[in-house]
Amino acid sequence: MTDVYELLYRLALRLREQSSRGRYAPSPTGPLHLGNARTALLAWLQTRLAEGCFVLRMEDLDRPRVRKGSAAQILDDLDWLGLDWDEGPGVGGEAGPYEQSARHGLYAFALARLREIETVFRCVCSRKDVNNAASAPHGPDGPIYPGTCRFRGAARKTANGRAAWRYRVDRQTVSVDDVLVGSIEQDLGRDVGDFVVQRADGLFAYHLAVVVDDALMGITDVVRGADLLHSTPRQLALFEALGLPAPRYWHVPLMTDSRGDRLSKRDGSDSVSLFRERGGTAAELVGELAASVGLSPRGQALSARELLQTHDSGSFMQALSKNTETVAQEPF
Ligand code: GLU
Repeated sequence: MTDVYELLYRLALRLREQSSRGRYAPSPTGPLHLGNARTALLAWLQTRLAEGCFVLRMEDLDRPRVRKGSAAQILDDLDWLGLDWDEGPGVGGEAGPYEQSARHGLYAFALARLREIETVFRCVCSRKDVNNAASAPHGPDGPIYPGTCRFRGAARKTANGRAAWRYRVDRQTVSVDDVLVGSIEQDLGRDVGDFVVQRADGLFAYHLAVVVDDALMGITDVVRGADLLHSTPRQLALFEALGLPAPRYWHVPLMTDSRGDRLSKRDGSDSVSLFRERGGTAAELVGELAASVGLSPRGQALSARELLQTHDSGSFMQALSKNTETVAQEPF
């Protein structure tokens, strides 16, 4: 795996130099909802306006949450929307495989690197242990790990022999220079704490996988939902620890339902499939999605390609920058 990792690393550096590279990275845990579709449209537009290479990566790492048929449906919806990809499922490409489920060896190799530099430790605490730790303050993702296993020694294991790996966060402030949101800072020690990079059941955590993938796929620009803004400092810490190049970030507003709640893949009520079943056209949907972030006038139907013709990188950035405060937004 060393060889494959090194090879992909060198390839990624070369790819980054050749052109700008963007990506959309859906999790096949349910149908694509309108908010996901808008993020995909914006990621596609950003890359196409930069005349870059658009990568599609299927984030099917969390097997228990993956829904059968969901990946195929997502690809079909993106295709229907006219959001084509240059590398990814069904197309291939040099930096593949493009399904996280086929990339375990690369994550394992990255974890081995973190072990070598002693920035990770074995942790046998259950979720309950962490929740029950009296002193554990809460951060954006729940209770902050109280450091219980940090100094316990690597040999400790649970009764069933399983343990997670946590990344050791020494008090450090990480800043993110987001293209749209501007500069934000997070004190990882205070607000996040030591975080899991491999779960006790062997599943690699999203943060490790996304860093390895974005780096080894040579991604230069990540356009994704604002819900992941507070995860970015963790990812930047991992990029740095692994000596991998980090992308630029563009966090875009999330779409919410009429109650102001974030759209979820679970209920499927705001899904692209439903919109299609009801006879909506791709041009209508693209028009509505674009209008909702100020990229086109309301009530105009236009294809993704037509939308692309009406913008350049400057006007795209200007429209989106105006909308970054609207993290909450109703679908039409
Ligand atoms: N797979 C994640 C999702 O579908 C997105 C991860 C990312 O863009 O970094 O929400």
